Amino acid sequence: MIDTEHLGVKIFEYIDALAELSEHPDHLTRCSLTREHKQANAMVEQWMQTAGMTTHTDAIGNIIGRYAGQTEASDESAKAPALLLGSHLDTVRNGGRFDGMLGVITPLVCIGALNAHGIRLPFAVEVVGFCDEEGVRFPSTLFGSRAIAGTLNSDTLDQCDENGISIANALRDFGLDPDNLKSAQRAVTDFLGFVEIHIEQGPVLETQNIPVGVVSAISGAARYQVSVTGQAGHAGTVPMSLRQDALTGAAECLLAIENVCSDHEGLVATVGEIKASPGATNVIPGHVEFSIDIRSSEDSIRQMAEREIANIFAQIAIDRKLDIQPVKTYEAGSVDCDKQLTRLLADSIESFGYPVQTMPSGAGHDAMALAELTRIAMLFVRCKGGISHHPDESITVQDAHAVADVLLRFLQRFDPAALTAG
Ligand SMILES: [Zn+2]
Repeated sequence: MIDTEHLGVKIFEYIDALAELSEHPDHLTRCSLTREHKQANAMVEQWMQTAGMTTHTDAIGNIIGRYAGQTEASDESAKAPALLLGSHLDTVRNGGRFDGMLGVITPLVCIGALNAHGIRLPFAVEVVGFCDEEGVRFPSTLFGSRAIAGTLNSDTLDQCDENGISIANALRDFGLDPDNLKSAQRAVTDFLGFVEIHIEQGPVLETQNIPVGVVSAISGAARYQVSVTGQAGHAGTVPMSLRQDALTGAAECLLAIENVCSDHEGLVATVGEIKASPGATNVIPGHVEFSIDIRSSEDSIRQMAEREIANIFAQIAIDRKLDIQPVKTYEAGSVDCDKQLTRLLADSIESFGYPVQTMPSGAGHDAMALAELTRIAMLFVRCKGGISHHPDESITVQDAHAVADVLLRFLQRFDPAALTAG
């Protein structure tokens, strides 16, 4: 029996130490491939070694620790497939300390507990701190996990940050060789699966009063840029009946989006940007541009809603004598979590007496990229007010403890031989 009493405190100690590594003196900003990111990797590497893992930094800047399984512990040359656990070590600007880091530190601390008790599992475990999930510094995102999955094109390394430094040059500054990118790629046979622990970034677990939940799927998403063209005119002289007001037309579009998406469970849409031209108090707006971000864990429901919205837009255009052009700028399908891994995680949650809350993830995660390589599953941890990407992001020590308990029990019950194909 493992004494888990201090795991929550230990997780907080590590999280707090990492939060000190910031590009900004007053708040937490740690973008990928920066000096602070390198310091974070070094810190995590030290902890991994203390926890009994062998470590290396791969060619894209992911820090990886390996805790050998029972059979290979005596023979370093034997490399059995490993269960991969982890998340990212980069943050948004002025971000929180748990988003990403909790998913690296929790498994690390759990492995440390196994090691302290001299326990080797019948399989190897690798813990990874991915180098980029937030996509803050460079236009690209998820390039740590995509490099491992083998889906990162080497052309991506030419992308530059706002100072004109390419990912390739940032890698050189980091002490890595961009020409070595391929070596970061791992084989399908390297892994038994990937489990990511992440703060929920939403209010569901808090509302249900549950510390930890399981993720059913990572939502797919589509983005649109919509342009609405009418006729600009004098605010005093054009009668209401003769107007082609692009902004009132856009307002009707926005309410239609809200309406359509309120009708379907798990479907969400947001208009986060809108711009009216010419943008003067005494001029009827002749042109409006707005964005749509629409997500669902079920692609068919999202696509149906997109068609419904397009039809309503067409009717609004006729009724109001406007030209409305929605252009799709991005689309990614949803990714299902593996049913067997998820069932095992749920069993572990239940064994502590918690109800099992299953929910889709509306946000993207490293697990999306890993799904191209291996089966994935995710645990969500309750966070205060559902707040993330903000300094107020927080969880409790008790919940950190709870998720560590759940992960440890999952690890001790996990049987690679029992996994069936699919
Ligand atoms: Zn994250």
